[in-house]
Formats: sequence, structure tokens, C-alpha cells
Amino acid sequence: MKTVWVLGDQLNRRIGALAEAAPSTHRVLFVESRAKLASKAWHIQRAHFVITSMRRFADELRAEGFDVDYRFADSLADGHRQHVDEYAPTEVDATEPLSWAGRALMHRLGCSMVRSNQFLCHYDDFAAWMKTRKSFKMEDFYRWQRQRLGYLMDGDDPVGGQWNYDADNREPPPKDGSSPWPAPLLDELDDLDREVIADISAHCHGEAPAGVWATSRTAALRRLDHFVNDVLPMFGPHEDAMTTRSWHLAHSLLSPYLNIGLLLPGEVCDAVQRAFDAGRVPVASAEGFIRQVIGWREYVWGLYWAWMPEYAGVNELDASEPLPPVFTGRADTKMNCLAHALGDVNARAYAHHIQRLMVIGNLSLIAGIDPRALTDWMWANFVDGAEWVMVPNVMGMSQFADGGRMATKPYASGGAYIDRMSDYCKGCAYDRTKRVGDDACPFTTLYWDFMARHETRFGRNPRVAQQVRAAFKLKDLDEVRERAAEVKVMLREGRL
Ligand code: SF4
Repeated sequence: MKTVWVLGDQLNRRIGALAEAAPSTHRVLFVESRAKLASKAWHIQRAHFVITSMRRFADELRAEGFDVDYRFADSLADGHRQHVDEYAPTEVDATEPLSWAGRALMHRLGCSMVRSNQFLCHYDDFAAWMKTRKSFKMEDFYRWQRQRLGYLMDGDDPVGGQWNYDADNREPPPKDGSSPWPAPLLDELDDLDREVIADISAHCHGEAPAGVWATSRTAALRRLDHFVNDVLPMFGPHEDAMTTRSWHLAHSLLSPYLNIGLLLPGEVCDAVQRAFDAGRVPVASAEGFIRQVIGWREYVWGLYWAWMPEYAGVNELDASEPLPPVFTGRADTKMNCLAHALGDVNARAYAHHIQRLMVIGNLSLIAGIDPRALTDWMWANFVDGAEWVMVPNVMGMSQFADGGRMATKPYASGGAYIDRMSDYCKGCAYDRTKRVGDDACPFTTLYWDFMARHETRFGRNPRVAQQVRAAFKLKDLDEVRERAAEVKVMLREGRL
């Protein structure tokens, strides 16, 4: 009998090797690795999400008639060895893993690899696309995907005549104080949830799971329906907004399920296309969401494979400040925006993309935090984290640690951007308009210091040169630099 080995981010009957397996021909192997659990300071909702989903999926396969060997082992390799010793399978089949190290391990162990279908563009196809071009812009890739896959197309043209409605999707939170976004679905925790929580809580931190994140395909499909029917028509306009009134706004909250296989990108996009065809969703909302799934998500995936393994160690801005204690719950902060973003992470292992990019990532960039330390922290603390997600998004897009291979400008901003896109600044102890003094907004101070500090690198970058010149025109630049040095010490010591 053969074995099919299912990893914790391949939890779907329709994925790769498992799609080809049957109870009469294959036994199924899962390995819960103690080394993996010990490898990072995991947020409990992240670890619970993956482990509960694995155990639940194993139960579903048992109910289908599979003989499942669910193994607890010191490492993946140990679990594999024990399984082979006990069952002597004629072959161990596996779907191509989603990580560089995972793929290397499977090769080393002699597994038969089945091509992954967890993305609509396999990394080999992405590499072939790259070979045909001099530059690898996301927008070009996205249009190629749209044409190839046929989403929101009218023949060769985009429906509505526009490829991209991003310009319509940058509204701040509603000024009337309303919070019109439907509440996310919640599930009651069951015995399996409680068993997993008991198993992992000593190794993890953060607030305990409260049913926000689904841990089965059935529950993930319910969340897909909820998103498409109730939330998607509102998706878009407030995509970049941040508000104390809602942690979720109209974000889909589907990335965790896509990233461990409970949902597949094709079925998610098909559901959105159907809602659009039925006239239930405006084109800007449908396009904005489809772009995230077939555009950005698959682009990041392709770049990860194109540029690994050296990409995981880049640090072109020589950023070496340690991860601030406020990130790891060892300090509080008076910065309202940061307190809210980190409070959301602590509460649900989630913050939306602008909180990640323009609050947590922005602060780390302009304060010079070690990009690898930030990447590892995000990977461990976000429910949808994974190496392939975090390395390009954090090292490349957010921290400019790749020197601009991915982003053409650093995503640095002062307090003015956060004030424009959020309601955080009103209740803050700092003044977003000030760059010096005890109550100066740390974002504003560090932003100008960052521009001046990196004059050599950004002085000729057409998208940033103007800000670099503006920094050197500041009459109080010396004071800004002094205050920035103080701010960095305060951040390091948890006093900001
Ligand atoms: S004033 Fe500065 S620190 Fe305070 S919320 Fe606004 S951007 Fe954040």
C-alpha cells in the first residue's frame, strides 16, 4: 500500500497527491512536529488554527474510509521515519510543499512529489512568465492572470473597461462614526478545540481562540458564502482605512483558509465571479478582491520561489534594531495606532493589510528594525502567516530589505498618512504634526530621520527623491535627528 503524506497547509481532499488517493490504495500520514511548535513563539490562535484543522481533517479522512496514521513526533523527518518503519509503504507520495525547506526535506526523504494545485499559477509557470520580461510588475502579472484565467473579462478586455479600480478604494473610515461592516461569523468551540488548546497553551501566547477562525472546510465554506453574500458588495472603498470601531471592516478574512488549503483560490474567485455576473456586486468590489487573490497573492508566491533561498536573508538597508518589546507584549505604548494594531494581533492573531504595512511595518522600517526578526514575528503571530507570504511581503514590500527588487519605493510615512486613513490620532498622546519635542509623533520624527539617513540610496529614486530633498530643507533637521535617536532608545526600552 502507498502512503500519501499531508502537510499542515495542504488540508483539502482536492489538493495534489490526496486528490489522486483512495482508501483502497493509500494510507494517509500526518505528522505533528514538536520541533515546529518549539521553533517560534507562536500566537495561540495561529497554532490552534493549523493544528485543529489538521486533526479535524484527519478525522474527516478516517470517516471517508482512509487508514490515517496521525503521528506526534520530534520532527517531520522523525515522523516519516517512524511511519515507514511501521508500515513499510511501497511509496510515500506528497504534494509539493509550500516552503523551500519543506520541498528540500521531501526530496531528501525520497518522497514522490505530485505537482501542487494550490495556486492558479504554479511557480514553474511564474518563472516562465518572468523569462519573457525585463521587469516583473505586479500589475502586468495580474493582467496576464486575468486574461489567462478569464475572471472579469469581456473577450480580451476587462469588464467595465478598466483593469484596476484601486483609485476608488482609498477612502478613510466614514466620518459619521458609523461601522456598517457585517460582523464575522463565529463558531462554538468543541471538544477538539479544547483538546488542542490544552496541548499547546504552554508553548504559546496571545488571547485564547474564541471561534473567529474556522478549522474545517465546511466552516470555511460558510465564511466564503458570508463574505460573498454579505460583505463583498461593500468590499473596496475602505480597504485602506483603519478605525477603532471595527477590526475587520469589509476585509474578506479568507486568507487563513486559502493558505492552509481549506479553501482553494479558484473556487473563491468563481464564487465572486458568479456574484458579479448575477449583478449582486459592483465591479470595483469584485475587481479589488480578484486582484488580491489572482494578482498579489500569486505574485508573492511566484517571487518567493524565484528568489529563495537568498531572499530570506536580505538586509540592504542594514537595519539592525532589535524587535521592540511592545511587539512581544513585554511593554505597553502610548502610540494609539500601534496599540490598536498590536491589540488586534493579540486578540485574534490578525491585523489587516494596512495596519500591517503602514503601522507595524512602517514603524519597523523607519526605526530600522531587523527585517528578519520582524518577518519571523509576523509569521508566528498572524493566523495567515507562512514563510512564502511573509518573506516577500515583509522583507521586500514592507521593509525594502531587498533594495527595491519588489517595491519601487519604501512604504515609509509620517503621522499625516495615518491621520488621513484612520481615527487613531485623535485619542493619541502624541501630536502627529510635530516632529520634535516630547509629544512629537514618533512616525513623523522617524520618517524625516529615515529620509535624511538614507539620502544616498533614495536621493535619486524618482518616487522618493523629493521627500529626501524636503528632509534636508528642514530647519530643525539636527533636532529631528536627536529626537529620532531618543525615540529609538525609547522603542527599544518599551517607553514609547
Ligand atoms: S499621533 Fe502618531 S503615534 Fe499617535 S496615533 Fe497618530 S500616527 Fe500614531
